[in-house]
Amino acid sequence: MNARLKAYLESEIGTLKAKGIFRLPRVLQTAAGPRVRMDGRDIIQLSSNNYLGLTTHPRLVAAARQAVEEFGAGPGAVRTIAGTMSLHLELESRLARFKSTEAALVFQSGYTANVGVVSTLMQEGDLIVSDELNHASIIDGCRLCKADRAIYRHLDYDHLRDVLKTARQTSTRKILVVADGVFSMDGDVPDLGSIRALCREYDAIAMVDDAHGTGVMGTNGRGTVDHFGLKDDWDIQIGTMSKAFGVMGGYVCCPRLLVDFYVHKARPFLFSSSHPPAVVAACVAAVDVMETEPELNARLWENTRFFKDGLRRLGFNTGSSVTPITPVIIGSGAKAARFSHELFERGVFAQGIFFPMVAEEKSRLRTIVMATHTRPDLEEALGAFEAVGRSLGVI
Ligand SMILES: *Cc1c(COP(=O)(O)O)cnc(C)c1O
Repeated sequence: MNARLKAYLESEIGTLKAKGIFRLPRVLQTAAGPRVRMDGRDIIQLSSNNYLGLTTHPRLVAAARQAVEEFGAGPGAVRTIAGTMSLHLELESRLARFKSTEAALVFQSGYTANVGVVSTLMQEGDLIVSDELNHASIIDGCRLCKADRAIYRHLDYDHLRDVLKTARQTSTRKILVVADGVFSMDGDVPDLGSIRALCREYDAIAMVDDAHGTGVMGTNGRGTVDHFGLKDDWDIQIGTMSKAFGVMGGYVCCPRLLVDFYVHKARPFLFSSSHPPAVVAACVAAVDVMETEPELNARLWENTRFFKDGLRRLGFNTGSSVTPITPVIIGSGAKAARFSHELFERGVFAQGIFFPMVAEEKSRLRTIVMATHTRPDLEEALGAFEAVGRSLGVI
């Protein structure tokens, strides 16, 4: 290895180790589900985004298998050359219908969807106005274009108004207001009605990243725009198919004109190959399941209420969550890491979240219940939280 490179890497890795945050990912030895085998131990999973348990749903698995038989293992090209199969178009029309938008476009992941959608639309002289806790992929989309950026305080619409007012006084440029639909660290939700009204008032484009909202919020899991009753009264909805959909991929649901624009200009769409048939077919099946098995969404919310109430009754600080993402705020990073480790020893996996993901003194475990957790699973998990919480003096 180049000596300079070696010295650089050793110093970087050394810093991580000194801070106690150098970690290799835990390894799953079974399919993703509510109970899994991980690092050689049988555990209750509280850290996956598999909200509805669709990763192993028989309809998705069957659809993937059939698509492999019929269409093969891979697409063979990027979408705009020879990699658009009828399956891709079917998925896009299903997504548009599900989200009540004119059109939809699929990207390889939620990450590339955000990067492509934001950076392609916004030009030098434009302005992106972003909630301070927005996801990294939105931030990276902002970094990849020359538009100006303004950050508003988390969920603070007075601040958002001030930013928009100032921006609009001086300019006829495009302004994009963007927020996560459900914030992934706190499980709180922005008031899209207020954001919509401000966008109207100041002639701004409204964008939401519903990665954690789809499958969870709104009728049949149609997302936060549906939850707030805004339906087609919203410009750009981003989503991922790697969370509640249980598969992989990202999408934008929006007017046809915008899809036509992205098909010709969005670099992640143009310069990276399309999804394999199995992925696309499983995603179509996931939309089917959301439309026809609303009981999964209902069970997700029942489990959410049960688990959140249980944690609160035990005396844990669960922050401001209103969704199945429930943070358990512990305090210092070291204590949260210890808590997570001891929980794992008791057969429960809840990932610790530390600085810089959240403020150091708000280090936490992040829990996400699934529709497919049973009541005994959740009772057992609460028992483990209680035992560790008492032994570490958190409750
Ligand atoms: C997970 C997530 C993404 C990225 O989605 P992938 O499909 O995993 O790339 C984007 N935005 C938000 C808010 C997310 O939580």
